[in-house]
Amino acid sequence: AELALIQSEKLAVLGRMASSIAHEINNPLEAVTNLLYLARHSNDVSVVKEYLELAEVQLRRVGAITSQTLRFHKQATNPQAVTAEQIIESVLSIYQGRIANSAVLISRRIRAHEPIQCFDGEIRQVISNLISNALDAMSTHGGCLYLRSRVATNWRTGERGVTITVADTGTGMSAETRAKLFNPFFTTKSITGTGLGLWVSKEIVDRHRGALRARSSQSGGYHGAVFNVFLPFDAVVR
Ligand code: ADP
Repeated sequence: AELALIQSEKLAVLGRMASSIAHEINNPLEAVTNLLYLARHSNDVSVVKEYLELAEVQLRRVGAITSQTLRFHKQATNPQAVTAEQIIESVLSIYQGRIANSAVLISRRIRAHEPIQCFDGEIRQVISNLISNALDAMSTHGGCLYLRSRVATNWRTGERGVTITVADTGTGMSAETRAKLFNPFFTTKSITGTGLGLWVSKEIVDRHRGALRARSSQSGGYHGAVFNVFLPFDAVVR
């Protein structure tokens, strides 16, 4: 009975995700349809070009939305035992180029070495989303990206696990932003943002019976954001 309940909860989550994603994809697709119609009925080459360029922008948006949600999900068939360090390093290697081209320094402090049982592809996606956001927040002035891991205990369940921290010295978040952070499609990045990163991340962490928390630090002239991901050691038991 408990298993059936979990299955139906999962389906409910999937249903909610699917319907908001479908909604969000539908708008740019409708725009593309209209733009193609206009292009087809125009004789002015420069106007046609303009319509096609606008359509391209809309299609790129659709691409960003689907890759954001599906990128790592494909490989997440079996739970694996991985350490926080393995996760952090494999995600960092994806961002090597972007970090090399920026004024961002990396500070690592790895204190948890026990492996976590988890859908490692999904957890990589979570850390990837957090690092990507941190780099976005430091894109104009550079700064420091902090990656930490330590053994921790869930104060509610007493369960032991690992907390991975991704922190930055970027723009930080206003109280208004913090309140909406985990809402689907909430973004302050006008063109490049999908507003799906943190929402998907929270769903993934919740399904691992973990916790994802955000703080903004703006005291004493120090700006930035702190994201903590707690994962129990046996995150995946089913
Ligand atoms: P996206 O990155 O596509 O906007 P997210 O769900 O990943 O979507 O993030 C939602 C919003 O949360 C961002 O647009 C930004 O305003 C805010 N945010 C997330 N991480 C950070 C961070 N490290 N520093 C400042 N703001 C952040």
